[in-house]
Amino acid sequence: MNIAIDVDGVVRNFVDTLTEVYLEEYPLHRDLVKPITEWELEKFFPIGKHIYNFAFKQKAEEIFLLKAKSYPYVYTALLNLTIAGHKITFLTIQTKKTGKYTESWLELNFPFQHYFKWDLITLVSRSKDKKSNYDFDLYIDDSPDNLQDLYKAKKHIVCMSRPWNSKLDLPIKRVNNLFEFGKYMEKIQ
Ligand SMILES: [Mg+2]
Repeated sequence: MNIAIDVDGVVRNFVDTLTEVYLEEYPLHRDLVKPITEWELEKFFPIGKHIYNFAFKQKAEEIFLLKAKSYPYVYTALLNLTIAGHKITFLTIQTKKTGKYTESWLELNFPFQHYFKWDLITLVSRSKDKKSNYDFDLYIDDSPDNLQDLYKAKKHIVCMSRPWNSKLDLPIKRVNNLFEFGKYMEKIQ
């Protein structure tokens, strides 16, 4: 199958890296940063809406490249999917700046090998371009907006369960990690 895999929240742990970088900058906020349970980041950081400038501009290189980590065992899970014959495309929405860092981060973390090739499609704006405009057999995503867009377009989707999409009420398959996703792929083959 041609699978579209989202990056942040699915393979890259954006939220933990953001929190780590934030607390380095604002150590006195340690007890004030709340666990991120909704999509709107400004609700969880004491600097409010400035968190967007902090994350996507000021500290973008640290958060999206230098200190960014993948969730545990992601490499193995993706490799197993490739070995099982699936074609992986990272389909992600980024700013111009974070898109550049994301490409480098993916190349560093998932190096090209003859048995593990992947593609990357970076969309620059959710309002101008939607994931549902791209044709894949299956999509895995954590963003409530993307999942809703894909669901409306009648795409085959899997939700990566995260606290920030727990309220999303769609009759779709949910997984907790990419290993569960791999198991699901084996079942539907
Ligand atoms: Mg995401």
